[in-house]
Amino acid sequence: MCMHCAEGQGCTVYAQRPDVCRGFFCGWFFLEELGPEWHPKQSGVVIRSESFDNDTVTLLILELSAFLVSEEFAGMVGGWVEEGFGVEFERLGPPGHLPAKMRMNELLEEAVAKRDLREMQTIFAWSLAHIDKTHVWERDKTALRSALG
Ligand code: SF4
Repeated sequence: MCMHCAEGQGCTVYAQRPDVCRGFFCGWFFLEELGPEWHPKQSGVVIRSESFDNDTVTLLILELSAFLVSEEFAGMVGGWVEEGFGVEFERLGPPGHLPAKMRMNELLEEAVAKRDLREMQTIFAWSLAHIDKTHVWERDKTALRSALG
């Protein structure tokens, strides 16, 4: 976690934040097909727009919200799988550890082809629980420094 991020408040140095932060936008801002329910504040999902370069949509799932069991979420994820984009679910590790990702395409292909919403939701839930409960989280050895005080 960045030393300038305060829980419940966000960036405490927003006006002076570095360029790398100014240049980051959730993929929600770029994908016209996503409705307001996909906004990170509503959905609890941040789309890593940098993953688009690899024809992949990486969904950083910050909250296990009701949105994840909505038809809107399953429909969009299923559409990406059918169109041949890579789809990854990502979860944050405990403080001081790196996040973890899981590729979803092979897991979802059959359920998507059958348009089986319930099966897709079961796979979503299993995958997220699998990451959270079985992943061996790797320590983040990044030494945090800031010139912003
Ligand atoms: S400095 Fe950047 S990474 Fe840190 S809290 Fe602000 S916007 Fe987030």
